[in-house]
Amino acid sequence: MKSSKWTKPQAILAAVMLLAAGLILVRLDAAQPGGQTPGDLSGFSALAPIDAHVHLYKDDPAFDALMQRLKLRVLDICVIDDRDPYGKGIEPQRTDVLKVAHRTRGRAALCTTFSPYEFEQAGFAQRTIRQLDSDFAQGAVAVKIYKVMGMEMKSKAGKYVMPDDPAFEPIYKDIAAHRRTVVAHLAEPDSCWQAPNPASPDYEYYQQNPQEYAYAHPEWPSKAAILAARDHLVAENPKLRVVGAHLGSMEADVNQIAARLERYPNFAVDTAARVPYFMLQPRDKVRAFLIKYQDRVLYATDLVTMPKDDAEKAVAEWSSTYERDWKFFSTNQTVDYKGHSYQGLALPEPVLRKIFHENAVHWFPGIAAKQ
Ligand SMILES: [Zn+2]
Repeated sequence: MKSSKWTKPQAILAAVMLLAAGLILVRLDAAQPGGQTPGDLSGFSALAPIDAHVHLYKDDPAFDALMQRLKLRVLDICVIDDRDPYGKGIEPQRTDVLKVAHRTRGRAALCTTFSPYEFEQAGFAQRTIRQLDSDFAQGAVAVKIYKVMGMEMKSKAGKYVMPDDPAFEPIYKDIAAHRRTVVAHLAEPDSCWQAPNPASPDYEYYQQNPQEYAYAHPEWPSKAAILAARDHLVAENPKLRVVGAHLGSMEADVNQIAARLERYPNFAVDTAARVPYFMLQPRDKVRAFLIKYQDRVLYATDLVTMPKDDAEKAVAEWSSTYERDWKFFSTNQTVDYKGHSYQGLALPEPVLRKIFHENAVHWFPGIAAKQ
C-alpha cells in the first residue's frame, strides 16, 4: 500500500483544517444556551437577584463587594435556638445583621425574630410586640419563626408547643398589621423522621446535629401534626404573608406544595437549602410546578457565615452556590450533586425573573427599598 494519496502540503492543510474544526467544536460545547459560559453569573446579575434566605452575621467589605458585583440583595435572617451558643438570644445577631445592612446600604435586609421560649410568662405577647415594632422601625422587613415550635419547646404541663398556639396569635396579628412577613421554618425534611440514609441530602446534617434528629426522638410530634399546625396558622391569619422556608418542609414532592399554594393565597415558599430536592424529583414535574406557581416560589440558599468565619473563603462558597443554582434553574446543562448528574430546568426568562427577583419584592415589601 502507498503511504498516502495526499501530497505533503495537502496533508498539512488538511491537518490545519481539522484542528480549526476541532477548536470550533470545543467552543460550541463550552457555550450554554443564552451565550453563557460555565460559572458565568452575568444572567443572574442581570435580574438584580435576591437571595431570600441567608444567615450573614459577618460584617466584612468582601460581602459588600460581592453584593455590588452580582447586584445581589439578601434577606438576612436571625434565628433563636437555645441549643446554639450564638443563637441563644436576639443579640448579638441582630446587631451583627444591622451592621451588614448598614455597610451594604440596605442590600442586606434584616429579618428579625423573637424568643418563643417565655410564651407562658405574663406579658409575653406585649413584650414581644414591643421588640418587633422597634425592629420594624430599624428596617426589619420580616420575622422568622423556627422549628423549636413543634420539635423542642414544651409547656409547663409537658405538652409540645405548636406554632399555632394561642400565645403567639397577638404577635402574628401585629406582624400583619405592620405589613411585614413571617418566614416560617417549621418541621424538617421527611428524612429527619427516617432512619439514617447516606443518600439523603440531609444525612450529614443529622449526623452532626443529633439533637435535631426526630428519628432519635420518637416522643416528638409527627411531621404531619406540625405541618397541620402551620397550615392552621396560615389559614387563621389570611392577612399575614407567610413564606415557608425550605420549600415549606414539603421538599420531597412539589404536589404537596402545590396543594397548599392552592388553598392559601397568603402562602409562598423559599428554596433555601432544598434545591437538590428539585434535582431528585422528575425534571418535567418540577419544571411544570415552577412555571405554574411562578409567583409563589422565592429563590434562596440558606448560606451561613458566622463572625469568626474567613470572609474570602465564604465569598467563594457563596459564588459557587450561586453558579450551581443559576446553571440548574436557567440552563439545560447538567449539574452534579452527590455523585449524580441532573439536567438543568432551563426555565423561561420571565419565570426566572420572578423567582430570582420579583417574588421577593412582592412577598417582602421594603426589601428593595434602598439604593
Ligand atoms: Zn436558615
